[in-house]
Amino acid sequence: MLTIAGSSMKPRTGKQMRELGIIRDGALAIREGKIVAVGKTQDVTKAFRGNYVLSAKGKTVLPGFVDPHTHLVFAGSREDEFEMYVEGASFMELLNSSDAILKTTRETRRTRLEKLVELGLERLDTMLAHGTTTVETKSGYGLNVEDELKILKAAKRINQLHCMNVVSTFMGAHAVPTEYKQSPDEYIDLITEEIMPRVAESGLAEFCDVFCDRGIFNTEQAKRILKCAKNLSLKQKIHADQMNRLGGAEIAADIGATSADHLNFSSAEGIKAMTQKGVIGVVLPAAVFSLMMNRYADARLMIDSGVPVALGTDFNAGNWILNMQLSIAMACHFMRMTPAEAITAATINAAHAICRGNEVGSLEVGKRADITVLNVPNHKFLGYSFSVNLVEKVIANGRLVVDREKQDEPVFLSKTE
Ligand code: ZN
Repeated sequence: MLTIAGSSMKPRTGKQMRELGIIRDGALAIREGKIVAVGKTQDVTKAFRGNYVLSAKGKTVLPGFVDPHTHLVFAGSREDEFEMYVEGASFMELLNSSDAILKTTRETRRTRLEKLVELGLERLDTMLAHGTTTVETKSGYGLNVEDELKILKAAKRINQLHCMNVVSTFMGAHAVPTEYKQSPDEYIDLITEEIMPRVAESGLAEFCDVFCDRGIFNTEQAKRILKCAKNLSLKQKIHADQMNRLGGAEIAADIGATSADHLNFSSAEGIKAMTQKGVIGVVLPAAVFSLMMNRYADARLMIDSGVPVALGTDFNAGNWILNMQLSIAMACHFMRMTPAEAITAATINAAHAICRGNEVGSLEVGKRADITVLNVPNHKFLGYSFSVNLVEKVIANGRLVVDREKQDEPVFLSKTE
């Protein structure tokens, strides 16, 4: 059992990221959705008698994954664009021809809230089946007052209906909408003067995020957005240095953002500044993989410099990944994170990246009983085995919500019959 205990107040950094708090022959007790005991099986069973006992003998038990960066709520899909990437197109080429984010925006604007809720719930079911129990989601496919609020309301409804925990981020600054193409600063005015105040007042979002990159929002515009967020008491995040080195990591450190995400092109100085300010670096290798960019964030430099590194999927219409196990595999293969570091990044550090470090991300007394059971003998199978779902059971809020133990039994057909 991997408890990853002891970092509820602060994310793990450096060598601590390799410490998983492993208890061999461990057990835990749950009451009313919360963990009430964690320890050796013989100690826990001496103190507690359960009404319902689950065995995980020979399996690996760990905290439910926390996905700290997704764009869950949108309509449509972009598989046609994927083919264009295969043939050499770039994200910016597609965005400039009103595809990519702008295509999904058109489709999302046309879609009713109820339908967006339905789509979001389905996607969460898949994430849950792969071991994720908490997820952050961003708006940003509305890009006007009405549709941004619609997406955030859908996220709220999804959180009420689903057993997974959903944390909401406002990201009106995801792209410049077509109608403001000639006057992007006016769109920033709209966000700061109208949309963000409405969002803050509604309580529909806890964070504000901005896509700072060449051809999207420049550093001045990003700073305006994040300063406005700060004034309105929305915590700050930034899509930083994803496709170019623009100084996104430095901005995150300057403003004191909770996290800076992507960081594929960040400078050593930017990373140092993040370390000094305790900004969490959220790495998203699947986004690099989907866009076929071949440049991953320098997670080794970040870990060695003391940046608390978290890991997410960045699920969105252009990066269709719902499985944190695959993010872990990519972090190991492409970014040379060890399985233990990637697991820490996908649990406790991811929880801190969305300010939930005291509620989820580790197996400790008082935390929500969000637990994933993998059908593998130890944690090193994460990253090593990446082609099938390793999850056997998921417990969310103390309830068994996924049980694949029986369902997957193969049917053997005899050759002679
Ligand atoms: Zn993103």
